[in-house]
Amino acid sequence: MDRVFFNKLLDTPSVSGFEAGAANLYLDYLQPGMTATSVDVMGNAYAYLKGTGGENNKKFLIEAHIDEIGFQVIYVNDAGYVYVRRNGGVDLQCIPGSQVVIYTAAGEEITGVIGKTPIHLVQPEERKKTIELDNLWIDTGLAPDEVKARVSIGDVVAWKSNAVMIGNNRIASKGLDDKIGVFVVSQVMKRLAIADRRTAADVWGVASVQEEVGCRGAVVCGYKVAPDIAISIDVDFATDVPCCSKQKFGDIALGKGVVVRRNLDTDSRLTSDIVRMAKDCGIPFQVSACPMPTGGTNAARIQLSRDGVRMLSLGIPCRYMHTPVEVCDMTDVEAAIDLVVQIVGKL
Ligand SMILES: [Zn+2]
Repeated sequence: MDRVFFNKLLDTPSVSGFEAGAANLYLDYLQPGMTATSVDVMGNAYAYLKGTGGENNKKFLIEAHIDEIGFQVIYVNDAGYVYVRRNGGVDLQCIPGSQVVIYTAAGEEITGVIGKTPIHLVQPEERKKTIELDNLWIDTGLAPDEVKARVSIGDVVAWKSNAVMIGNNRIASKGLDDKIGVFVVSQVMKRLAIADRRTAADVWGVASVQEEVGCRGAVVCGYKVAPDIAISIDVDFATDVPCCSKQKFGDIALGKGVVVRRNLDTDSRLTSDIVRMAKDCGIPFQVSACPMPTGGTNAARIQLSRDGVRMLSLGIPCRYMHTPVEVCDMTDVEAAIDLVVQIVGKL
C-alpha cells in the first residue's frame, strides 16, 4: 500500500462539485502504468487498462467517489464573518470548533475557524437546541474589507486536513468517505498494471464525482463505460461503537475485514461467488444487508445504467461517518484491495 499517495489524497480538497485537484492527483499517480487516462465533462477520472483477451473482452468498472462533504460561501456580512451552505450531508452538530480552509477564486487558501457563543453566555433552554447552519459563521481573523476583497460568493470551503494514525493501524481523518475507496481503486489498478497480473478483461478504475450530492457522477460513468460487471467501493457503517444498535444496523466492526453488501442493488449470484472467493483465499470479510436499493449509493445508480449492470458493492467499515474524524482500519483496506484483485482476475 502506498501510504504516501493516500496521505496526499486526503490532503487534497475535493468538496462535491469541485474535485478537479484530487481527480488530477489520482490520474497523475496512475498514468505511468495505464493504457489510457481521461476525464469526462462531469469530472469523473478514468484510468483504463486494456485486457489481454482480444476483441470481445469483458468490461469491468471499479468505482469509488472522490468527492468529500464540505461547504460553499453564500454570504459575507459587514463584520467580515463568512456564512456557508453545505455540499453534502455534513453533520451540523460537529461543525462548531472546526478549522476550515476557504479556497478562493484567486487560488488563495484562507484558514478560518467556526466558533460558537461561549456556553456561559447561553441560556440553559437555548443550550438544548440543535445547531442550524445559518447561526454559524467562519471567522478568518481578517478585517471586514480584506475578507470582502478576497472571498467571493461560491468559494469552496473544506475542513482543514487532519489525518492522524491512531491505535495500531487505524486512521482518523475527514474525507475517508470516500477517499479510502478511491485509494483501494488506485492500489488495485497499480497491481493489475503489473505485466504478469494483466487480466483478460478490460478494466476501468474510476474516481467519480458528486456522490454526496445525489450520486451524479456515477450516472455518467456507468453509461460511459457500459460495464459487464461493476464494483462500487464506499465506506460502510461500523456498528462497534456505543449507542449504535446491532438489532437495527447489523454487526460490522473495524478490523474484521472488507464488507460485502447483499442489497437489492447488488447481483445476488455474483455476491455469493465473491463470498466464496474471499473464504477460499482467506481474505477477511463481513456481510451487511440493506433490503432496499437505497438510491443513496453509486451502486444503485450504476446498476440501472443502460440494460442494467451486474453490480457488486464493497464497503470499508467506518466510524463517525460525515464528521471531521471518520475512523477506518487499514487492515480492512488491505482486505478490500486483495478481494477486488481476486474478483477481477477470476470472475
Ligand atoms: Zn461515500
